Amino acid sequence: TRRIVLAARPHGEPTDDDFRFEEVELPDLSDGQVLLQTLDLSLDPYMRGRMSAAKSYAAPVEIGDPMVGATVSRVLESRDPSFSEGDVVLGYGGWQTHSVESAKHLRRLDTSVAPASTALGVLGMPGFTAYSGLLTIGNPQPGETVVVAAAVGPVGSAVGQIAKLKGARAVGIAGGPEKVAHLRDEFGFDAAIDHRADDFTDQLAAATPDGIDVYFENVGGAVFDAVLPRMNTYGRIPVCGLVANYNRTSLPEGPDRSGALMGQILTRSLTVRGFIQTEFVATQQESFLREATQWVADGKLKYVEDVTDGFENTLDAFRAMLAGRSFGKTVVHVAD
Ligand code: NDP
Repeated sequence: TRRIVLAARPHGEPTDDDFRFEEVELPDLSDGQVLLQTLDLSLDPYMRGRMSAAKSYAAPVEIGDPMVGATVSRVLESRDPSFSEGDVVLGYGGWQTHSVESAKHLRRLDTSVAPASTALGVLGMPGFTAYSGLLTIGNPQPGETVVVAAAVGPVGSAVGQIAKLKGARAVGIAGGPEKVAHLRDEFGFDAAIDHRADDFTDQLAAATPDGIDVYFENVGGAVFDAVLPRMNTYGRIPVCGLVANYNRTSLPEGPDRSGALMGQILTRSLTVRGFIQTEFVATQQESFLREATQWVADGKLKYVEDVTDGFENTLDAFRAMLAGRSFGKTVVHVAD
């Protein structure tokens, strides 16, 4: 297999020198294992965390090990009765062109409704994150205002559209006019604004005349600063991700604002609740797959994918995703 291993822990934005391409022999299959060829590799913000040694909810990738990641793969050889050659599956092959995996970690993909790559995005972990975090913690009610940033990405686009399906008003935030237009015209957000615009705070105020009931937190940073003063009493903030911080090497300069933040939480009776999607898998994965597949089939849940051709371009695509140069779910197309 060809694979990309972590060569050093990145400081700030990952550089080419932090990684190494390798060619290695895969081990022979044991019973219960399958040999997979990677077709599509998912690139996700959480991978930046795995490159760092800092303590988090999951162990870091060790130096010299291949980067982790979900993959859509084809079964080349199987030593498990539940899979046969040619099956297309969702696996966790990582940044490699081929992998050996245990059959019990794989799910066969049904491509009758949507292409297999959607198992990495709208019908996969990111879509599930939006569904479980929004409905369980955000609990949007008809007529309420839901705000989400990174709104063209797989999590944010699903948050906005599911909020609409529940009768709420969806306001999307993204970087640049093309993305803003896409939010409004393709995803059906009620309002869309550009976090890079000089008058972003004023635009947010104009887009949320009744305040904000649910802020689905994907980014942190300046967007959070603009949102917080607009939160309504009993507002809910599912804290899903803080992508504005992922390449940061230290906290931003400035006065300690934690007192003011706690003051807002107190006086407006806000609920701020972090989550990792895995906590909801056992109870909600089935209903998610059933409902979201139907929504996609009915055209009520749309998605956009940013597909980069060629395994050798994986790192560039990863950097682009974190920096906002991607347009939708980031996928590397590794083989046909
Ligand atoms: P995206 O594909 O949307 O990529 C991240 C996007 O964030 C960028 O493309 C960029 O888009 C935006 N962004 C980056 N920096 C900033 C900034 N400083 N201010 C505002 N926006 C910024 O990512 P996903 O949809 O895959 O993930 C979204 C979030 O959900 C991430 O924080 C991720 O870590 C989190 N997540 C959490 C999970 C959990 O279990 N808790 C599971 C899965 C994802 P733009 O051009 O719009 O600026």
